[in-house]
Amino acid sequence: QKEIWAQLKDEPTFTSDGEQVELVANIGTPEDVAGVINNGGEGVGLYRTEFLYMGKSELPSEDEQYKAYKSVLEQMGDKPVVVRTLDVGGDKELPYLDLPKELNPFLGFRAIRFCLENEHVFRPQLRALLRASVHGNLKIMFPMIASLEEFRQAKAILLDEKENLKNEGIEVSNSIEVGIMVEIPSTAVIAKQFAKEVDFFSIGTNDLIQYTMAADRMNEQVSYLYQPYHPAILNLVNNVIEAAHSEGKWAGMCGEMAGDSIAIPILIGLGLDEFSMSATSILPARTQITKLSKKEMASYKEKLLSMATAEDVIEFIKDKTE
Ligand code: PEP
Ligand code: MG
Repeated sequence: QKEIWAQLKDEPTFTSDGEQVELVANIGTPEDVAGVINNGGEGVGLYRTEFLYMGKSELPSEDEQYKAYKSVLEQMGDKPVVVRTLDVGGDKELPYLDLPKELNPFLGFRAIRFCLENEHVFRPQLRALLRASVHGNLKIMFPMIASLEEFRQAKAILLDEKENLKNEGIEVSNSIEVGIMVEIPSTAVIAKQFAKEVDFFSIGTNDLIQYTMAADRMNEQVSYLYQPYHPAILNLVNNVIEAAHSEGKWAGMCGEMAGDSIAIPILIGLGLDEFSMSATSILPARTQITKLSKKEMASYKEKLLSMATAEDVIEFIKDKTE
């Protein structure tokens, strides 16, 4: 096992029938990058920037953020790095921001909703990212997008800061892709409309499952409803991938589901382009994918999408991949 992993470490990822996918990692700090490289990651698919803001008594400065983003980009060289803008609120509280107490924090004032109302927080992060963009292959991703207006507004602020930096004589990359997390059902349903405007999608199944099933991802009592293989989830995921491809864009996944050995064959069949997972899952996933035929997995697509329960899906996939 270890030998196979060592052989595959610096290789790209191909299915048994020669179709390429990208295996990248989720990180929280620049220190995590060493683990990504040691585990054969082809890039960073989700850099959760919240850690820069946590465990302190005030907002991180633009320069502090610039240094962290630059460090990650430089360490990754020309490999892609998807940085997610601040996803605060929900389960992630920041005492110094004085966020209101809410009855339903997961349905409340969080992530892009907070950032669009607090440009004094949002703009410095975007400036730090834009300044760091010349040091690597940066892609910027907005979290918790529920409507096209939110995306348009966030992108307009980004372009405004890009203009400001140019006027200040500061160099900014001209090839930064700008995409969104798909973790709210409304966005998954109208992915086709989004695909005309975004550069890429990354499906956040951790939240997408909780919002689709109306089952709090932290509540043990409803955890039986937290079902990644529920046909409703598979249909949403498929809709997002098809929408992306119909506009020539790519679709990734950065929720836990992307590294799950039962989900992987399904996702290969649905045509997912990029799988972002914890670094230690990458070599096991690459080993699994080299043995899967994309053509075969794709032939099960219609059947899987029309199944009635998660149990049926699991049973079918186990049977086909044993
Ligand atoms: C997700 O929702 O799937 C995701 C990757 O984001 P987080 O777990 O940080 O909410
Ligand atoms: Mg999320």
